[in-house]
Amino acid sequence: MEKEIKEIYDKYIMDTYSRLPVDLKSGKSATAADKAGKEYIDFGSGIGVNSLGYCNDDWVNAVCGQAKMLQHASNYYYNEPAGELAQLLCESTGYDKVLFCNSGAEANECGIKIARKYSFDKYGKESGRNKILTLKNSFHGRTVTTLAATGQDVFHDFFFPFTEGFAFAEPNDFSGVKEELSKGCYCAVMFEFIQGEGGVCPLEQGFVNKLFEYCRENDILTLADEVQTGIGRTGKLLTSEHYGVKPDITTLAKGLGGGLPIGAVICTKKTSQVLKKGQHGTTFGGNPVVCAGGVAVLKKLTEKGFLDSVLTKGELLKKELLSLNGVCGVDGKGLMLGIRLKGITALDALNECVQKGLLPLTAKEKLRLLPPLNITDDELLKGIEILKSVLDKENDG
Ligand SMILES: *Cc1c(COP(=O)(O)O)cnc(C)c1O
Repeated sequence: MEKEIKEIYDKYIMDTYSRLPVDLKSGKSATAADKAGKEYIDFGSGIGVNSLGYCNDDWVNAVCGQAKMLQHASNYYYNEPAGELAQLLCESTGYDKVLFCNSGAEANECGIKIARKYSFDKYGKESGRNKILTLKNSFHGRTVTTLAATGQDVFHDFFFPFTEGFAFAEPNDFSGVKEELSKGCYCAVMFEFIQGEGGVCPLEQGFVNKLFEYCRENDILTLADEVQTGIGRTGKLLTSEHYGVKPDITTLAKGLGGGLPIGAVICTKKTSQVLKKGQHGTTFGGNPVVCAGGVAVLKKLTEKGFLDSVLTKGELLKKELLSLNGVCGVDGKGLMLGIRLKGITALDALNECVQKGLLPLTAKEKLRLLPPLNITDDELLKGIEILKSVLDKENDG
């Protein structure tokens, strides 16, 4: 990496991230190049964002074409890409309506507002039925409210006072969840089907079944944070489809725009009418350039056989990883995988991979892989070769 860029960052950008010494300049498919021309196979997709890889032709044409035509229209008007993306999203997921925003945290904020207002409208303020139960080890975003919703103590520091009304339960322990929910003060349960930042930790099917049954019987809303797991990441459009359940509210972001900032809240008939005129909004929500990118992503994902290919690639990756002696297990589904390591820390493995031209991610003590959903077999194999060289060393003792 060239020195100047680091100096500029150090001088002018707030120091909130520990960065790797990589300055990406261009890319195609799952291969990126830095300023000096060194190539990297990208197994991180900018944290699950570049779902069609770098500069996919259809996506570039959609985005550039729209940018040349009309780059923004306020929500006081109609614009075609937002309408098209909304229709595609609802028809392909079976949800009733969508609200567009700009990030995962914002989508979750909106989901929380809908859950609280649903209960307010139906049970009244005096009922006190406004709390939201989330799960320990979850991650829901960086705004003050979504930090409060996040079930990890490290996120509950410095920024006092946090938003009230959240409590945390152990994932996959239904009796603990039920004990909390039976207190009668909850309007919703919020969860990730596979905790992403928490270390690629899936919920168990039995837990999900019991949770959904209890929530249905007690009119407690299910609010699924699919910001990371959604939009084809695990080989279905939504990860809820793997579990055979349909949450009342699902939030999306990361992969939806294919590289541009977008968030979305999709609601069933039960929750899609809760917010009325003037009760929520955001200037950039439904931006036509961003939505045109989203349309290109969804069109690709809904092509016949595409999502099955995500599952197939995930299985191949998993199988290859499980044969390495530095790997003791692989969690996750499709192209959202967490590698349990032995003999090497996630940080050391990450640094070694980056040196050798592979960009994975970490999540807690695991190496995390979120490659582009359309990664080519050739790129996949190249990436696997690098992982082999890092994770398949003879044990020194
Ligand atoms: C990334 C992430 C968020 C936050 O999304 P931002 O776009 O960074 O605000 C929320 N929930 C989950 C599950 C995520 O993975």
